Amino acid sequence: RAAAPFRNEPIRDFSAPADRASLEAAIARARERLGRRYPLVIYGERLHGGRTIPSVNPARPSEIVGDVDEAMPEQASRALDAAAERFGTWKFTPAAERAEFLFRAAERIRATRDDWNALLVLEVGKPWIEADADTAEAIDFLEFYAREALRLAEPPPLTPIAGERNRLVYLPLGVGVVIPPWNFAFAIMAGMSAAAIVTGNTAILKPSPDAAVIAAHFVDLMHDLGLPPGVLNFVPGDGPTVGEQLVTDPRTRFIAFTGSKGVGLRINELAAKTAPGQRWIKRVIAEMGGKDAIVVADDADLDAAVAGVVVSAYGFAGQKCSACSRAIVDARVYDAFLAKLVPAVESLRVGDPASNPDVGPVINQKAVDKILGYVEIGRGEGRLLTGGTRISGDGFYIAPTAIADVDPRARIAQEEIFGPVLAVIKAADYDDALRIANDTEFGLTGAVFSRSEERLRRAEAEFFVGNLYLNRKCTGALVGGQPFGGFNMSGTDSKAGGYDYLLLFSQGKSISRKI
Ligand code: NAP
Repeated sequence: RAAAPFRNEPIRDFSAPADRASLEAAIARARERLGRRYPLVIYGERLHGGRTIPSVNPARPSEIVGDVDEAMPEQASRALDAAAERFGTWKFTPAAERAEFLFRAAERIRATRDDWNALLVLEVGKPWIEADADTAEAIDFLEFYAREALRLAEPPPLTPIAGERNRLVYLPLGVGVVIPPWNFAFAIMAGMSAAAIVTGNTAILKPSPDAAVIAAHFVDLMHDLGLPPGVLNFVPGDGPTVGEQLVTDPRTRFIAFTGSKGVGLRINELAAKTAPGQRWIKRVIAEMGGKDAIVVADDADLDAAVAGVVVSAYGFAGQKCSACSRAIVDARVYDAFLAKLVPAVESLRVGDPASNPDVGPVINQKAVDKILGYVEIGRGEGRLLTGGTRISGDGFYIAPTAIADVDPRARIAQEEIFGPVLAVIKAADYDDALRIANDTEFGLTGAVFSRSEERLRRAEAEFFVGNLYLNRKCTGALVGGQPFGGFNMSGTDSKAGGYDYLLLFSQGKSISRKI
């Protein structure tokens, strides 16, 4: 397996009747298993917590996908002990053995892909292609990091020194706390967990309550594959209580976090304080939010630009860190762009992801309130072109919304909304468009549509984002080919799915021997 070069898992488009039928069947199967209880997993032992938290289907909030046990403080503390104890042996387990767990997990997920997709449809409201892309990315992370761990196990070449033999080896760090968001419920959760353990660390996974069932299934899978107890512990709980307890504990060596700017900064601040008895500077790997822009130059292919903006802004209801939330359009093509944008947005079918619409619900009531709050602000800051309302019905549906004539410094042009809301900004020319694009505290993704080679080169040099796309959408980075992570308040630019990523979970030791 390791000898085969890494290749991205192909993503299905569900146009084939057989693909559609098998996912529909998997959704029906998953529905029969709804409402199960998911305990904590500490040192391989399944334990009940203080209370359970329901994870619900955002398309039908009365449908409980699972009841997840919440850890009590003493259980979170026990998980740290368990992880610390297991670290004593896991750190010496050969990389090939550790990588094998990831290869086998990828194989099992591939074989049961529809079941994972169905869970993503029901627990986080992903339309089918989005669910399949999430599962494919989870497989990619497992396959990629397994190979990367094998590569790092081979000492890199060093400058020869006469009379000595020198080596550089990479050691694990220790006990890590993995805190994922709910939006890439499978890929980011599994990717951060896999990176932590394949490098020889042990980990405590604190899932997002909105995506805890899929995380529980992943932890179960790893134990089914024989992962030693204590390597990956499952400790659900509230971020400000259980999360902060884990982050601040002196036994924690590192935190791998993906989520919002505010929480990332809070974790970074807490981790920087040295607790009594702590023997290291905690490492924080934090990937945070975005306010991603697509620049449409006056020489752009407008149909391609509109298609790219629409899929980037409204795919998964805009709930991607990479989502386009600002379209910055040259004044010379501004009206023509809007004329094509509005019908394209209005043609999107919104509905229950079980029946595979273009756009599903947002994740929960809190998200509805936050997004509609920004829509109200947006009504005052620009011209509502379309959308702006909650769609009646059971689920958390918000109409795809576009607001034009937005000032680049307006709140809806600066703050992450994380919903299906696009701000359209008029730029005087290409220089102005690039200036507006960079006028943000974030720096995650960005795209430019232009037919000019010179303008595209300028974007390469001047557009300050971790992931830049030219003449295409700004979402959908692929593991291996498009290492993902942003600048400034978008995080530590850790480049998930890239060749530097596992080094963040490791520390180098130089060994010199006189000969
Ligand atoms: P979030 O609210 O920041 O939560 C992320 C995780 O942090 C959750 O598990 C949450 O648990 C936990 N948490 C909250 N407060 C905490 C605290 N004080 N201490 C420790 N943990 C705490 O983000 P989200 O709503 O799940 O995800 C959406 C955000 O993630 C967006 O901002 C998006 O841009 C970002 N994101 C970034 C990337 C990237 O690669 N840059 C990728 C995906 C998503 P509780 O929910 O229990 O509080």
